[in-house]
Amino acid sequence: MFKKYTSCLLLLCALAMSHTAWANDNASRKPLTLYLVLHDDISHYNTHELRQDYFAWLIKDLESFTDRYVRLAFISDVPGLTDFAYQNDDVDETYYAWKNKMDRYVFDNGMQRNATTKYLLLTQNRINSDTLGASTDKSYTGIASLETFAIPAHELGHMLGGTHEAAEVLYKGGWWCQTNIVEKHGDLYSNCYVYSDANKQIIAEHLNRHP
Ligand SMILES: [Zn+2]
Repeated sequence: MFKKYTSCLLLLCALAMSHTAWANDNASRKPLTLYLVLHDDISHYNTHELRQDYFAWLIKDLESFTDRYVRLAFISDVPGLTDFAYQNDDVDETYYAWKNKMDRYVFDNGMQRNATTKYLLLTQNRINSDTLGASTDKSYTGIASLETFAIPAHELGHMLGGTHEAAEVLYKGGWWCQTNIVEKHGDLYSNCYVYSDANKQIIAEHLNRHP
């Protein structure tokens, strides 16, 4: 099932980025590797900015409850892949066309295809007027627009088994926020920049089956 946002507000948030020394007791588990496929239309971003704005807080959250390291890797400037025409009123058509392209790239390059390796296409724009990303339950690949900070975390959450139903609204720091996999982003809410406790449990249990 494809997950859609219908109303999203770009929020400028001050993120508390604290450096945490991770204990070395998770070294025995396979790291979770997130390949970020950078569409040609986001070539103006550098990978340091992307990491800070969209992934540093996500990695911190994922590492806190999965008991494994999370690694980012970048794929860019690949003709036939990073120039993929993703904008389409038919989300299914775009998703499956993308999945076929990614499949071929992964196969041709002898890359991993398993539960702890994900491939996410990052795009400047929406897929269509009400769709900011696409993925399927526990899929190894997906598409996420950079329009709001939480979209990549939203799609990766589905790709790790997370659901809209398990997302929630929290009261944090004097205001209401929504966790990463909410179905719709309400204009009055901020982003919590975490998965809900219920989604953390779903994701951790899913990954525990793949030590
Ligand atoms: Zn969704």
